[in-house]
Amino acid sequence: MKRAYNFGAGPSALPTSVLEIAGKELLNYHDSGISIMEASHRSKLYDDVHQNAIRLIRELYNLPDDFEVLFLQGGASLQFAVVPMNLYMGGKVQYVNTGTWSKKAIKEAKIQGIDVDIVTSSEESGFDSIPQVDFADDCDYCHITSNNTIYGTQYKSYPKTASPLVIDASSDIFSKEVDWDKVDLMYAGAQKNAGPSGLTIVIIRKNLLDRVKESVPTMLRYKTQADANSLYNTPPTFGIYLLNLILEWIDEKGGIAKIDEENQRKAKLLYDAIDNSEGFYTGHAKKEDRSLMNVSFNIKDKNSDLEAKLLAEADKAGMIGLKGHRSVGGLRASIYNAVPLEAVEALIKLMNDFAKKNK
Ligand SMILES: *Cc1c(COP(=O)(O)O)cnc(C)c1O
Repeated sequence: MKRAYNFGAGPSALPTSVLEIAGKELLNYHDSGISIMEASHRSKLYDDVHQNAIRLIRELYNLPDDFEVLFLQGGASLQFAVVPMNLYMGGKVQYVNTGTWSKKAIKEAKIQGIDVDIVTSSEESGFDSIPQVDFADDCDYCHITSNNTIYGTQYKSYPKTASPLVIDASSDIFSKEVDWDKVDLMYAGAQKNAGPSGLTIVIIRKNLLDRVKESVPTMLRYKTQADANSLYNTPPTFGIYLLNLILEWIDEKGGIAKIDEENQRKAKLLYDAIDNSEGFYTGHAKKEDRSLMNVSFNIKDKNSDLEAKLLAEADKAGMIGLKGHRSVGGLRASIYNAVPLEAVEALIKLMNDFAKKNK
């Protein structure tokens, strides 16, 4: 059976070897006679998976002890509201607006009654870049979107700030090493780089857990799940099982620094193909802010049928998920951790051949 090369933005490609293990173990997990999906979340069978996933996140990410790893639900979109519910104390709150997801995060903070200070934005230039930012020292928290999945821009390093820094890392979690000195809360929907949809990962500095007010529902308090090791209620057990397999896969590959090297290599090849196409393809993002995860680009003469033609040819060649987001159009190749180098090489060959034929 031939698997497609999946360049979808999310849910997105998972490592084939991980799916093979999941397939093999589906009916009878470790000789238990049941699927891990059918195991009680209070059983030893499941608990080993749960603890191992947390341990691997700590190890692979070199996470300092004063951080807590939480497994939640509701996607990154629920975090847009949960972050202000837990961290706002009536003071100053600053956000950087680098695209659609930042805007949604800002909108939810406003719904919480916060007078959000949008400290800087790249909206005027079509979200083609990551603006320089200088956060105030006295914010309750400040917020960035580390990788802009739609526009294809990414922070190369996080801003250093005295205020707690919150990062939406939905589309680049586990793709590169993190300087935890700079970070206080990181959240991500799992379905781009870390597993299936339905699981949300939150990594939070413990000193932020006690801020939450009594009026916040129990299930929406980070403290609830931190105190219960993310087992206050039934967690998304199958998603956490797949996350654990993906973390083992990262570990076997040599860790996150190694994954980062591969990601850099894949992205360079693809951006080089765009830059060397003599204007047939143009990248959306400014070069210095280009994302290693989502490569958004256009074909010359946007009004022609070239885009549809390329998508059809790609589809025929077993390459899917290349259509750009409806808000920017064009094309987008998402090349997350699990997209192999050979997929990127096949795409580049298709793009080069297509450009030659349609110059
Ligand atoms: C996909 C995405 C989201 C939304 O995630 P959900 O889990 O679907 O809510 C938020 N932020 C970023 C950066 C994303 O890429």
